[in-house]
Amino acid sequence: MSTRVIAAYALACVAPLVAFAERIPPMPETTYDIIDDFSHPEPATVWKPMAGSKPVSLVKIGGRTALRMRCNFQGTRMDRASWDHEVKLDLVMCRGLQFLFFCPNASPVAHFTVYLHSGDGWYRVPFDAPASAAWSIITIDKNAANVEGRPAGWDEVDTIRISAWRGQDTDTEFYIAAMGTFGTGGQIMVVRGDSAAAQAPNELESVRRYAGVMSELLDRAGLSHVVLSDLNVTSERLRDIKLIVLPHNPTTPETLTGELVRFLGASGKLVACYNLPASLEASVGIRTGSRISQEYQGHFASIRPSHDGLQGMPAITEQASWNVREASAVEGRSRVAAWWFSDNGQPTGKPAIIASHNCVFVTHVLLSDDPSGKLHLLLAMVGNLVPDLWREAAQSCLDRVGHLGPYDSFGAAKEGITEAASGDSRVLRILETADRLHSQALAMLSEGKYSQAIVTAEESHRSLIDAYCVAQKPLSGEHRAFWCHSAFGVAGMSWDRAVQLLAENGFTAILPNMLWGGVAFYASDVLPVAPAVEEEGDQIDLCVAACRKYGVQCHIWKVNYNMGWAADKTFMAKMKTQGRTQVGYDGSSNDRWLCPSHPENQKLEIDAMLEVARNYGVDGLHFDYIRYPGSESCFCEGCRLRFEKVAGRRLTNWPNCVRNDDSLREKWLDFRRQQITGVVTAVAEEARKIRPDIKISAAVFRDWPVDRNTVGQDWKLWCDRGYLDFVCPMDYTASSSHFERMIEQQLTWAGKVPCYPGIGLSVWSDSADICKLIEQINITRRLATGGFTVFNYGPTQANEVLPLLGKGITRKR
Ligand SMILES: [Zn+2]
Repeated sequence: MSTRVIAAYALACVAPLVAFAERIPPMPETTYDIIDDFSHPEPATVWKPMAGSKPVSLVKIGGRTALRMRCNFQGTRMDRASWDHEVKLDLVMCRGLQFLFFCPNASPVAHFTVYLHSGDGWYRVPFDAPASAAWSIITIDKNAANVEGRPAGWDEVDTIRISAWRGQDTDTEFYIAAMGTFGTGGQIMVVRGDSAAAQAPNELESVRRYAGVMSELLDRAGLSHVVLSDLNVTSERLRDIKLIVLPHNPTTPETLTGELVRFLGASGKLVACYNLPASLEASVGIRTGSRISQEYQGHFASIRPSHDGLQGMPAITEQASWNVREASAVEGRSRVAAWWFSDNGQPTGKPAIIASHNCVFVTHVLLSDDPSGKLHLLLAMVGNLVPDLWREAAQSCLDRVGHLGPYDSFGAAKEGITEAASGDSRVLRILETADRLHSQALAMLSEGKYSQAIVTAEESHRSLIDAYCVAQKPLSGEHRAFWCHSAFGVAGMSWDRAVQLLAENGFTAILPNMLWGGVAFYASDVLPVAPAVEEEGDQIDLCVAACRKYGVQCHIWKVNYNMGWAADKTFMAKMKTQGRTQVGYDGSSNDRWLCPSHPENQKLEIDAMLEVARNYGVDGLHFDYIRYPGSESCFCEGCRLRFEKVAGRRLTNWPNCVRNDDSLREKWLDFRRQQITGVVTAVAEEARKIRPDIKISAAVFRDWPVDRNTVGQDWKLWCDRGYLDFVCPMDYTASSSHFERMIEQQLTWAGKVPCYPGIGLSVWSDSADICKLIEQINITRRLATGGFTVFNYGPTQANEVLPLLGKGITRKR
């Protein structure tokens, strides 16, 4: 504890559990609804530590109270420090929880999780610690919750659990304060069709997906809203609601239709997609019918306004729908506002949108394609029904202009980018455009031209992003790579074009995934070849040829042990029959994964990679999944026999003995590590004999000291022994401060071996978030890694992200 930046004094005589913190930064003021300010007299009894965790204590900061939670990881075996707080919460009418959070040193924590208990289950939302210098607000969004067991609903939350998961064998602590809610008080309610779980369970996944798409669109529009289960809608909860959205509700509970009729009768408005309960037809004046399937792919490709369209709707909104709902207008009550057009631009004669005075009905769900078109279409629907919401959207859209990278306003962005441009006339010209558009948007807002104000504000924002990208400076000598998960490259693009784009935009390497544990996308003599190779050609040949042509390095990526989605079923069955697939601790079989200790599996892994080195002019071989799936495997009969040889005796009480018997535990973990390391060693040594200048690399988990035990991945050793020429930890977090902390650690483990951190672009909620990507690339530069590796090279990244990088941060000189 000597390195702790916080000093706390217990005032034993006043209140034994309250301490004053000297160097905790001041807490920011909060304006949200507070449900707990932690002013309990006895926090230790209210927040109960789980086994092994320390009791919480209270800290007074500027007259307010925070909880201090200590994580005693040093010298303990606990997976997490964790506390439970009994509550009685109804979170139905809000978007989720929020609280203030401060952690002076988050490195020892892998990640944090908030769990909310309800009924017989939990809602679980993980979060990463933000930058450590100050307090931040953590939001726990209900939409992001994973479900464990069978929770009874958001209105029956009876426990809040906060867990800090062990990342390192070092103690730390964190503070939370001002627990409250967010996302209350909106005028829009999105009703999610949870009743499908009982009546149409196969629809449940799409129910959740399209409720999510709708909520995201409303967020992007800056429209506050709640998402409510269709089982929870009551008159009381509808009191302040002006607009209800049914994003995809294949079933409608009777109580809901009753509420909807009353709501519409009291001048409420409705947007319904794909399904409109028959009992509402009279209230909304719109008739719907049966489902119409597409006659061919591309039949329903875009939504275009009729002569009497909704004000502000786009001329074309693209949407590749596979079926639509039959619907018609009722004379004198509603009208067709838009039609479906096919992909060759022909009208289909099928209505896409029908509008009445209190309802807009879309004949399919809103899909997430054409995000900009979809946003404006939704705004037009909402705005025509409730004009006030349009103003709210326009205002919030204007407020957001300039929120990019490190900037939080138009003024700050303009000033910051101007400074970064250091007189570069290209940047200054783009900034002038952004400025002009911003002024126009403000004028439109004040004239009540909301739709135009939104379009213009967005153009201004895009110009700022463009200027920001152009203002970035490249760094020479950098290793800049993309992983490409598809063996066939970027969808809709040849390997030649995909690699040309990388080269033109300053990237130096690609890591294409050409083989798995059970399938190859090239002419292999070792692994079963994917049938598509016959039609589409040898993918390594095509990729390597393009890389030679444009001067880009090609490191062939193999998924180890995991046979893969494309593995031949007969081959997989054969592996299982031969006892070569994994078995879990509980005896369950994992038919997709090959057992790492089986000698024939090791040979298969090694031979497949060496074959690539021998037959193709590749620059490198790249390991992935070079590990066990988790600590629950492998406990197959072969593993038992092979481990008995290491232990030097017959094992009774298998598999419990490797966990309960201390003399075996370390040996077992070593045994697992050796299986994986053996393959890495053999490939590295043999491949270098075949091709002396070949580079060996690996995609690895983030937290070596933990992962070497849980998944047997001892990558620090691989660096120390020189098996690897570079290593790519998969640091796929959207939190840049977490990203930075992970790399700081990893650089010490990699030692002299270059560490090119993996950036998780395509797994972030915005998979084209150029500003965050630039931020994380700049972190790799600040830490002098010498390069980075971006996941994943797909169409969005190739078409939208790469050209923006090439304008500045990876610009070719
Ligand atoms: Zn095994």
